Amino acid sequence: MIKIYNTLTKNKEELIPLTPNEIKMYVCGPTVYNLIHIGNARPYIVFDAVRRYLEEVGYDVIYVQNFTDVDDKIIHKANVEHRDTMELVDYYIEETLKDAKNLNVKPATFNPRVTSEMKEIIQMIETLVEKQAAYHVNGTVYFDTTKFEGYGKLSKKVLEELEAGARIEVNTEKKNPMDFVLWKPKKLNEPYWESPWGQGRPGWHIECSAMSKKYLGEQIDIHAGGEDLVFPHHENEIAQSEAANGKAFATYWMHNSFLNIDNKKMSKSLGNFKLLREIGDAFGYDTVRFFMLSAHYRSPLNFSADLMKASAQGLLRIKNCLEDLEFAIKNSKDQDVTVAEQTLIDSLSLYNARFYDAMNDDFNTADAISIIFELVKLTNTYVKNDSNKVVLITLKQNLCKLIDILGIIYEAQDDANTGLSDAEILEYIDERAKAKKNKDFAKADEIRAFLEEHGIQIKDTREGVQFKRV
Ligand code: AMP
Ligand code: ZN
Repeated sequence: MIKIYNTLTKNKEELIPLTPNEIKMYVCGPTVYNLIHIGNARPYIVFDAVRRYLEEVGYDVIYVQNFTDVDDKIIHKANVEHRDTMELVDYYIEETLKDAKNLNVKPATFNPRVTSEMKEIIQMIETLVEKQAAYHVNGTVYFDTTKFEGYGKLSKKVLEELEAGARIEVNTEKKNPMDFVLWKPKKLNEPYWESPWGQGRPGWHIECSAMSKKYLGEQIDIHAGGEDLVFPHHENEIAQSEAANGKAFATYWMHNSFLNIDNKKMSKSLGNFKLLREIGDAFGYDTVRFFMLSAHYRSPLNFSADLMKASAQGLLRIKNCLEDLEFAIKNSKDQDVTVAEQTLIDSLSLYNARFYDAMNDDFNTADAISIIFELVKLTNTYVKNDSNKVVLITLKQNLCKLIDILGIIYEAQDDANTGLSDAEILEYIDERAKAKKNKDFAKADEIRAFLEEHGIQIKDTREGVQFKRV
């Protein structure tokens, strides 16, 4: 029996799918205006491990992860860089997919993007207006939070308290302080779409409600994302979906805890982030994956170079064990299995049972990995002293099966790193400038060194930063 910690009930609950043998799973994806940092890599990796485990135990998983490809930050970046927004988002979607592949994340069943789903988004807003859960003022449509009784049930916030705590806004269009935007009118030089409320674009939250409905139906099993999404994003998704469909939206809400740096959330806005490319390059993408799965997804995880090195060593211990096994198998002979060897083979099922117990307990990959290490130790001892082919093959098959469930040993494609594109270089230069502005000279130097390692020389000039490939 699989138990999942459900943010909605604050309890570990037995997984009971809506449809037997099938799991409908939606994971909120990134806003694509930058290369992802390793904090963003955490939900990619941990929910991929959840999916792999569900598939391992026999479920058919329909896995949907969106790309937010229209948003203020995207438009701002495109304007600053004199790029077309579509060209910009296409580029980052492609790069993000490369990153995900390098992390051994299985491709999603569907990767919808907002700009391709306007029809469904507008339809859902229309339904909300018809049902009087939303109202239209001067080209903007707001969700009326007082019309949804369950508002606050995920984040355990009480609407009245939220309203009392809300800043007095200049906006007098809203009926209630916590009402949020479903559709907003176009501004100059911004992409827009036609709608019953005039030209404009959707607010952020509605996209996930609409895309989840289109690809998975009105009710889904698991909705997931980082814990920063609980409020307001997921709270608002519940309000929209349940008000529009008149049904419970997701049965289980899963949230990964943060990847921190110096005990603070790694984030773009704090400027304390490390790009996945940088860390993947330095330590290996497989080390990043292993590092993330070495902690339970609901535990905060601190990033440091020392911890990455320790993870790389841990992973190497497993890889070496597999290599030694391979070598031993080649040089082994078929022999009768001794009583002691049979006992060893029999004991494997106990290790496996503990591995499955750990994963059944809210996907405890940390415990699962420690059981893999116990098996590595057991295997190393056997390989050192004995060489019965049947036993060696059994040990290898057993170990590989558990390793594959977590997807921790694989050949990273690394095709994202065969050279930095101009856009990527500009991105690093941009980050270096920000670091300098924040007087974080260590980070600025680190970025310069990183670029140099990749054969890019940068020069500060009065006209700005220039770069050349050397
Ligand atoms: P964003 O592009 O900021 O919406 O983030 C994409 C995903 O990464 C969301 O699920 C976030 O919750 C998650 N995320 C962002 N920063 C971190 C972090 N430091 N640790 C873990 N998850 C994060
Ligand atoms: Zn979402």
